Amino acid sequence: MDVIRLLPDSVANQIAAGEVIQRPASCLKELVENSLDAGAHSIRVLVRDAGKSLIQVIDDGLGMSVSDARMAFERHATSKISSAQDLFHLRTMGFRGEALPSICAVAQVKMTTRRASDEVGTLLEIAGTQVQKQEPCQCAVGTSIQVQNLFFNVPARRRFLKSDQTELRNLITTFQHIVLVYPDVAFTFVSDDEILYDLPVGSLKQRIEGVFGKSKSKLYTSQLLEIEQQTELVTIRGFVGKPESASKQAQQFLFVNGRFMRHPYFHKAVLQAYAGMLSAEMMPPYFIYFDISPESIDVNVHPTKTEIKFADEQSIFPILMATVRAALGKFNVVPSIDFLGGNIEMPVSNDAMRASAKAPELHVTSGYNPFTQQKEKVTPHWQQLYEPLKQVQVQQTELPHPIESETLHPQSVAGGYIVCAKDSGLMLIHARRAHITILYNQLAAQLQSHRGVSQQLLFAESLTVSADEQPILETLLPDLRSIGFELQKVSSNTYDITSLPSVLGNQNAATALRAIIARAADGQSDVHADMQQHIALTLAQSAAIPMGKNLSEAEMTDMLDRLFALPSYRITPDGKTVVVWLSAEEIARRF
Ligand code: ADP
Ligand code: MG
Repeated sequence: MDVIRLLPDSVANQIAAGEVIQRPASCLKELVENSLDAGAHSIRVLVRDAGKSLIQVIDDGLGMSVSDARMAFERHATSKISSAQDLFHLRTMGFRGEALPSICAVAQVKMTTRRASDEVGTLLEIAGTQVQKQEPCQCAVGTSIQVQNLFFNVPARRRFLKSDQTELRNLITTFQHIVLVYPDVAFTFVSDDEILYDLPVGSLKQRIEGVFGKSKSKLYTSQLLEIEQQTELVTIRGFVGKPESASKQAQQFLFVNGRFMRHPYFHKAVLQAYAGMLSAEMMPPYFIYFDISPESIDVNVHPTKTEIKFADEQSIFPILMATVRAALGKFNVVPSIDFLGGNIEMPVSNDAMRASAKAPELHVTSGYNPFTQQKEKVTPHWQQLYEPLKQVQVQQTELPHPIESETLHPQSVAGGYIVCAKDSGLMLIHARRAHITILYNQLAAQLQSHRGVSQQLLFAESLTVSADEQPILETLLPDLRSIGFELQKVSSNTYDITSLPSVLGNQNAATALRAIIARAADGQSDVHADMQQHIALTLAQSAAIPMGKNLSEAEMTDMLDRLFALPSYRITPDGKTVVVWLSAEEIARRF
């Protein structure tokens, strides 16, 4: 008996729809992108019940003819490309011709549309791919699409939606990713009759303030520094926050050719430009826009994914870092003693600062890849990430070498810092960060040699992960094992932790694992070296002494011994300052 059947269209469409439309936010994204592709100058978004009952997008774009209005809902119907070759020159947001058919497969859709050249418009009603109504109608030029009762015919998907609060947050995030690219288009966003955003046409800076000026971590145009850099490879422009605008939940956005993207590697480049300027846990806001020839990035990624592959990311890394660093330098915001800030009046500008404020030169090493070089060596690869730092001017005087800790006589000050006075100057050390750096190096070496030091638990600790987290955990398992974790799967999403790396002591192993999973999920990196770095860093942060812990002199000496034995101890693996060195001349200059 033959067993293969063709699925009915309605079922095939629903399955395909699941790929493109996963939640109200994905629907909103597709609709607004269509409006932008249609050249709209003003786009209004209305949602009800976090988009679950209604998502409506009204634009003043080109509109559609009667037959195009009907065609638009056919799968793979698009006005944007006609051959595969076109894919490599894409400048529109959409191109797959999948969004509208996917939406109407899983919702009740009502559209009105009119071109400027037509007297009357077209009204179309479709529910679950069935056309219910098509007739002429009176309507404004442009297109209005109402999507009601998303997933009304796929109860399993509907149940899968998160709370209204979460889905509304997703809608807003999606909206922000778009409006931050189009300051020349006016947008409004109304949720359950409340106007959440009303953004007029303006400059990019005004748009950023329009979006974040009223949010919890308020951001004003006066806190932003412009960046701009043109190279043959890439054009980088946008804004970065002055260090004082840093916060625990800073707004951080990267875009490429008008699309939001996640790019942990470029994120790192930005953070490194701030090395030594921010206190613990503080993150700088940034809005960075790359323009690059479409041929050198892979755009043919899934519509719901935000990762974008760059052919040349190793060359872009130092360009980006130097560009940000230059902006910070130009505006004299590179302080030379961040630990004492506040207590000491810093000269607003002096010769030394002015001299160091000149923009750094760019030396691009195109073969440079911090993650792949020096595989065999036990030295962690991140060390090479700092190489570009040497290319830009770093204000702190280099530390004297070698440092012998027995001559340092460390003293503990102001909850968490160690000072050492020497004839040649004064050294300040951030104790927690020093500890993190030491542990990170130890763990990174263990990860590479698969020789983690493990400690068995008397009573297994249980770890339950969500369906999203489970596959991430599985990919992390080999590395987790080599660092000393032992996990036994007890059910589809529950594991027993029987051993843990000994550095963690008697800390909660599940919490550390959760942090590792969260970081891996957030980074969405598939670079293995990156993953190892995540693990080592998260564990080091979990195991390190808390900020403010009092250390005995013996403990401090021991810590400094281990710190200065490292090849790179000046900054933590995630780019924060560990040691500040004030040379005798620097001190003299301050008086
Ligand atoms: P894609 O955007 O990938 O082409 P869609 O399914 O999103 O596919 O849209 C199909 C087609 O419908 C588009 O190519 C465009 O011609 C038309 N269309 C969709 N939305 C609008 C709109 N708001 N204004 C004008 N035309 C639109
Ligand atoms: Mg589209």
